[in-house]
Amino acid sequence: MTKNSESNAAARNIPERIDALRKAFGSDLAILAHHYQTDAVIRHADLRGDSLELSRRVPELSARHIVFCGVFFMAESAALLASGGQESHIPDPAAGCVMSQMAPHRLLEAVYARVTASGRRVVPLAYVNTSAAVKAVVGRHGGAVCTSANAATMLRWALERGDAVLFLPDRNLAANTADAIGLDPAERHVLDVRGGGTRVDTAAAEGARLLAYPGCCAVHARFNAAQVAAARKAHPGCSIIVHPECAPEVVRAVDASGSTSAIIRHVAQAPDGATVIVGTEINLVRRLAAEQAGRVTVLPLAESGCSNMARITETNLLALLEALRGGRAEPVRVAPDTVRHARAALERMLEACS
Ligand code: SF4
Repeated sequence: MTKNSESNAAARNIPERIDALRKAFGSDLAILAHHYQTDAVIRHADLRGDSLELSRRVPELSARHIVFCGVFFMAESAALLASGGQESHIPDPAAGCVMSQMAPHRLLEAVYARVTASGRRVVPLAYVNTSAAVKAVVGRHGGAVCTSANAATMLRWALERGDAVLFLPDRNLAANTADAIGLDPAERHVLDVRGGGTRVDTAAAEGARLLAYPGCCAVHARFNAAQVAAARKAHPGCSIIVHPECAPEVVRAVDASGSTSAIIRHVAQAPDGATVIVGTEINLVRRLAAEQAGRVTVLPLAESGCSNMARITETNLLALLEALRGGRAEPVRVAPDTVRHARAALERMLEACS
């Protein structure tokens, strides 16, 4: 056998080697995969779901080794919620979320200091797509975490507790949620966070109740209203659903918007013969199309994939499982002080939404 054919054979055996390792670990291992993962990775998952859904399941799992196939903040969230003895791992720690990286914790501290300098009570509200360090800053200032599914509830919660809310990092989710609860556009302000927070317009911020951090998701920012118009023309009678990380003009032009779980439900509940156009990450859209084939036609609003989610592959999943087996894998570590404050922010959300 040549060197090339040996490595081809090894590559072909990857799924079988993962299966064998999962069997060897038994209940000591749980592989969690986000809906935006490829089918090649998803097929090895014990659980699939959205980020918070999966992390919330962690403490009830008997597994000691949690392997999170998603982006880094998700593995960190799993580490935050893990019970004693559990460790969270990610096959590629360089799989970061572009949106979460737009809001580093030091910049958030600087921006928060600017908008509260006058003595205003500003409640920070962090989308779950943020680092543990950012969640900890939010927790330390009496704020909470939210998801795309409970953002409206949590925005009302935060508005009731302060003069204003600092919503981060997604300006689109902030605007769509404000629309959903009927907050007057005149009461909203998108912050300029350039220059380490020095460019925040404090006078404009003083006059607003919703201060939106200017981040966005590179995947959902690619959808636009022209694509919606084109889809309606090409598929008369279709229904169109998008994720609320899309721009407000897109959300206003479609029939529904919702979290990944809401999108999955929308497609599952569509009547036989329907055509559903979906505006979210392409791996989920393709999977829904395959699962519904012959009953509902599921089409992407446009092809938009998350390159960071795509960093997780069967190859690095196998490498991680082998490292775990050999006692060489490094778990995701979060400092105890960060855990304490970030958990406080998460717990406020769980309490408000219980
Ligand atoms: S799809 Fe968007 S929000 Fe999700 S991980 Fe990728 S960049 Fe981040």
